[in-house]
Amino acid sequence: MSVSIEVHPSIYVLIGCPGSGKGTFAQTIKSEGYDHVSTGDITREELKNKTEFGLKYQYAILNHVIGGIPFDEIQRLVEQRLEMAVSGQRGVILDGYPKTQEQCELLDSFIQKNKLEKKVVFVLIDVNEENAIDRILYRQTCENCGKIYNSKFSPPITPEKCDVCHATVTGRMDDNINGTRKRIDEFQDKMRPVIEYYTNSERLSTLDGNAPPEICLKNFFNFHRSINTKA
Ligand SMILES: [Zn+2]
Repeated sequence: MSVSIEVHPSIYVLIGCPGSGKGTFAQTIKSEGYDHVSTGDITREELKNKTEFGLKYQYAILNHVIGGIPFDEIQRLVEQRLEMAVSGQRGVILDGYPKTQEQCELLDSFIQKNKLEKKVVFVLIDVNEENAIDRILYRQTCENCGKIYNSKFSPPITPEKCDVCHATVTGRMDDNINGTRKRIDEFQDKMRPVIEYYTNSERLSTLDGNAPPEICLKNFFNFHRSINTKA
């Protein structure tokens, strides 16, 4: 029999450019009952399963086209994943959504409809571009458990072997410096209205993502604890 533990907050809406440490944030509180739900992962899954959605939006999915998928379609996929949080059984860390002001408004309707106003926390992880680029270029991930390393700043104890499960740790070969810089610039441009939307309604908490990973881990966890104990 599983014991039901109410998590608080139910939903973290996580905003941060590639390399800001969103994965680290998710890793920090995973064991507290949260699932990391990234729209990138959801849409790639649809493509892998060759669903109607996946095939229709193949180009936008593969090329990270911000706004390339109609927002009602993305909203439908996201809401499916948020149902868990609504039932109070698991928390959700929503990553990569919303990306436009329209999506912010749709998400707000969903929050109101489900009376989640006090159970959603909006977080921006702020990081400077050079730090983000370094993180992406040297990022390594365990193929088995998903633990994130950085070959320059926080490598595994044994090179290319995970400290936790001893599986192979691999880097992302597709990342090059110009492509990475472009992705970050694009993010900053396109996300400005979303950040303003939550800043203007005084709902956005900003976390500093520039510290070394182990400090960020600690800060992220303390932040979560500060909200969690207010419940
Ligand atoms: Zn591992």
